[in-house]
Amino acid sequence: MPKPSGFKGNKQDLPQKPCVVCARAMSWRKSWAKNWDQVLYCSDRCRADKPQTSNASPTPATPTLTPTPRKKAAA
Ligand SMILES: [Zn+2]
Repeated sequence: MPKPSGFKGNKQDLPQKPCVVCARAMSWRKSWAKNWDQVLYCSDRCRADKPQTSNASPTPATPTLTPTPRKKAAA
């Protein structure tokens, strides 16, 4: 097991990938957890700026912030 030395609490362990438009590194976000594979743009602006693709791809569902509250019904 590789042990990261030097840093304690390495929070940059989250996956990253470049925005297809501006190539900026996007860090994984909780709101993207469900569709991280489909996230291509770092922002709505880049999404609107995307290069013209051949055919219109089906608009991916807008990532809604639904943090799935874990409620244990204790009744
Ligand atoms: Zn971008």
